[in-house]
Amino acid sequence: MVIVFKPNASSEQIQNVKNYLLNLGFEYHFSEGKEVTILGVIGDTKRLVPEYFLKLDGVSNAFRIQETYKLCSRTFHPRNTRVKVDNLVIGGNDIAVMAGPCSIENESMIYDIAREIRRSGANIIRGGAFKPRSSPYAFQGLGEEGLRYLRAVGNETGCPVVSEIMAISDIPLFEQYVDIIQIGARNMQNFALLKELAHMRKPILLKRGISATIEEWLNSAEYLASKGNQKIILCERGIRTFENSTRFTLDLSSVPVIKKKSHLPIIVDPSHPMGQSDLVIPMARAAVAAGADGIMVEVHHNPAEALSDGPQSLTFKQFENLMREIRMIAEAIGRNIASNEA
Ligand code: PEP
Ligand code: MN
Repeated sequence: MVIVFKPNASSEQIQNVKNYLLNLGFEYHFSEGKEVTILGVIGDTKRLVPEYFLKLDGVSNAFRIQETYKLCSRTFHPRNTRVKVDNLVIGGNDIAVMAGPCSIENESMIYDIAREIRRSGANIIRGGAFKPRSSPYAFQGLGEEGLRYLRAVGNETGCPVVSEIMAISDIPLFEQYVDIIQIGARNMQNFALLKELAHMRKPILLKRGISATIEEWLNSAEYLASKGNQKIILCERGIRTFENSTRFTLDLSSVPVIKKKSHLPIIVDPSHPMGQSDLVIPMARAAVAAGADGIMVEVHHNPAEALSDGPQSLTFKQFENLMREIRMIAEAIGRNIASNEA
């Protein structure tokens, strides 16, 4: 339920509504904006009657949210959510650039890659330690050892780190080693995992499922939000369609659609859908132009020898050029690439 106040509603009138809700045991989210001031009511609002609020002084409208996701909808929370990670803010004017290898293969490679991409301006380092590989014979990641290297590299370069979690039993490791916890496409609807991660205080990067609609994706985000973690960053990574000239079809239209439906930040991973490095670059540029709050790209010191996703991994040179290009695109739309250099 959303209660909208008249532009001239007094603080006493607003407080009256808040007290009424508190007395009935409801919590609320209060959003005071230049154009509109609203209260989003949290809980089982079937007990509330919109008409009751319409009669109160200072109230201009009261209605039920139609979407199945409530806390994540823009109706409930009109202003953009900004997710803080160290001294970076995702979802504000600055654009996050998450980069790094698909998998952490050994200690020296993650150091080499991190130093190089930092020099080009990446502000968050990615690296997989628990890999969701389609084949059981493919490299599965270094596990905790990989997370340990990633943490050390994050500390050395002064940069937050992000890695994918696959199992509830690994939560303590992620608590210890990473700054942003990634939920991969294959786990977007792993509701048991979502419910457990909702109790963590760390930001969650929620990738879109391979065959998930935007509504299903936002409902997965609602699992996190409704159980306590609203530090959610959505990540578009392509969906399965009839088209097979790329690995997946990158649905860039989800960026403006999400911006309309939700207040959550959204970033784009052009690497996994495009599957080939030369195709990744134009879609990374397009993601920034479309209004994404960040990108996540795979970069490798020697893509030909990578243990996973080599063909889509950018070389250092390609990444450096891409950074130069997206700086210009960001500037053209009144944004900046976030900087967290020491
Ligand atoms: C990844 O980012 O390493 C990954 C496996 O991505 P996705 O879950 O989008 O396939
Ligand atoms: Mn990958």
